[in-house]
Amino acid sequence: MSQTRRVYLDYSATTPVKEEVLKEMIPYYTEKFGNPSSLYTIGLESKAAIDKARAQVAGLINADPAEVYFTGGGSEADNWTLFSVANAMKTKGKGNHIITSKIEHHAVLHSCQFLEKNGFEVTYLDCEKDGTITPESLEAAIRPDTILVSIMFINNEIGTIEPVEALAKVAHDHGILFHTDAVQALGNTHIDVKKMGIDMMSMSSHKIYGPKGEGALYMRKGIKIPSFIHGGAQEMGKRAGTENLPGIVGFGKAAELAGENLDKHIKHCTDIRNYLLDQIKKNIPDVVVNGNMEHRHPGNANVIFEYIEGESILLLLDSFGIAVSTGSACSSKSLKPSHVLAAIGVPDEMIHGTIRFTVGDFTTKEDIDYVIDCLTKVVSRLREISSVNSKKGW
Ligand SMILES: *Cc1c(COP(=O)(O)O)cnc(C)c1O
Repeated sequence: MSQTRRVYLDYSATTPVKEEVLKEMIPYYTEKFGNPSSLYTIGLESKAAIDKARAQVAGLINADPAEVYFTGGGSEADNWTLFSVANAMKTKGKGNHIITSKIEHHAVLHSCQFLEKNGFEVTYLDCEKDGTITPESLEAAIRPDTILVSIMFINNEIGTIEPVEALAKVAHDHGILFHTDAVQALGNTHIDVKKMGIDMMSMSSHKIYGPKGEGALYMRKGIKIPSFIHGGAQEMGKRAGTENLPGIVGFGKAAELAGENLDKHIKHCTDIRNYLLDQIKKNIPDVVVNGNMEHRHPGNANVIFEYIEGESILLLLDSFGIAVSTGSACSSKSLKPSHVLAAIGVPDEMIHGTIRFTVGDFTTKEDIDYVIDCLTKVVSRLREISSVNSKKGW
């Protein structure tokens, strides 16, 4: 059988670098390679390129450039926030209690679990059936010794957009810092850190058509937390190490493009995603869609196919050149049921039948027609096998 087509429906796992982004990056590997800390011309040019990228990222979220600190990705920004806020607050004697949610990315969850082993207390908020974390549940969890609230902006598995502005307000009413992991939100919804009252925010480049291994932490002016990586004075003395110059330039360009195309991108993805969901419901019985349909990542479709295994669907779709994921990409190598689907109350056997499709700028309606054609065959074949098996009592 010859490979007919390739369709990539895993844009929440990562995105391809756009041509315009790559074009901006390439000179910074070769002729424009100067160390941004050097005082001669090619060093100063590199420094200027970083300043430009900082302004581009700041522009996408309505921050001042001086509030944007480049990191080695979204995970680092999450780790930096949690560990540095925790330690700074504890040192000042302000408390050792952190509030987060059960549906965070592992970069936040595992950092919190590590902090628990080191004497911090963490409350993991429950969410509603559609993945929403309510301001009321946050209010109820706040204690006199709470030092940080960290709740994600958009969930990476089920696409639910959290009421970040209202959550930040609850935190601030009690004088507590509010951090959000906005890796899935950047370039997929309008973000205004000032209007929304966000104190700290994690971002990643490779989810917005920029290069991998690059990201940023937004930190509101006036917030003082220690460095996470110690050494030189890079990033206003907050993140040591010679900068990933091409990565930063690429992230900046990707952020600029994301800002220019935001409304178009949201409309394109929403239309294609809705078409995918409509076609699934029309052609395949016994499916359930997870997440909030109104406040949702424009590209996300998270679907339970009852009675069968998501892993089998994934592998068979892969044989047709189609890339999707089961639950979250990070858990795709283990059979542990997704913590997010468990938190919204999906039973274990149905969690195993869940597929996450995420569409992006390069997804076409023809791609979806092809996917529906393959998916319909794959699901009915797997269900035939599973019903034969269950009749045999396997
Ligand atoms: C991808 C992702 C991250 C990790 O970002 P990296 O740049 O890959 O480290 C963190 N949080 C969420 C919600 C993500 O989707």
